[in-house]
Amino acid sequence: MKEVENHDQTIRIRLRKIISILMYLNRVPKIARSFFPPGIWEMDYDQTKPSIYITFDDGPHTVATPFVLKELKKFNAKGTFFCLGKNVETEPLLYNQILNEGHAVGNHTYDHPRLKDVSAEAYIQNVEKAKEWVNSNLFRPPYGRLSRKVGNKLIEQGFDIVYWSILSADFDTKLDPKDCLEKLIFDVKPGDIVVFHDSEKAFPRLEYVLPRFLNFVHKQGWTAEALAYKKNEE
Ligand SMILES: [Zn+2]
Repeated sequence: MKEVENHDQTIRIRLRKIISILMYLNRVPKIARSFFPPGIWEMDYDQTKPSIYITFDDGPHTVATPFVLKELKKFNAKGTFFCLGKNVETEPLLYNQILNEGHAVGNHTYDHPRLKDVSAEAYIQNVEKAKEWVNSNLFRPPYGRLSRKVGNKLIEQGFDIVYWSILSADFDTKLDPKDCLEKLIFDVKPGDIVVFHDSEKAFPRLEYVLPRFLNFVHKQGWTAEALAYKKNEE
């Protein structure tokens, strides 16, 4: 019996590893989606009005967020900011600026816990704590990891889970900003949900890639739109 259990566990660990590798490819393969609680991976788009959906995780941040807002404004582009509750707590003016400039917001937990390090209850409490700071029905799980148990509970609570179809990989400190841009431009297509980070760690790449990427989107004749979201009931 013990051996069977160990064997099952080994398979589960291997599967987890495979899924996390798939999630960190530039484009998430469709097969990976079946392992996650239901959510939004990409958007339908109108052939005559192609759009992409750029998202920014982990902010607001004193340097990166104003930079992103300025660049989006230059290109008349809208984005969606998956904020950490603790960062909204310290940067409420930046959070308001995001909203005032017509962008969308989403919940990205209070302080970015790793699902494997905390209990399901503690994880859900962390999301609920962020709700006090981020007024949105959209939720993006940190590291793109979410168990069915936690995901279904959040869906029951009225959250729409937003994953992504393309990673800019701006968080990868070993990646040359030029390569980061090239990969992104090579992969992206209308309807994609693209992930950037308005964070300290990602800023050296974000600063190079975002303006050039927005320029590329503009030249393609595409628009960058915010994801639709609802406010939580007051
Ligand atoms: Zn994050």
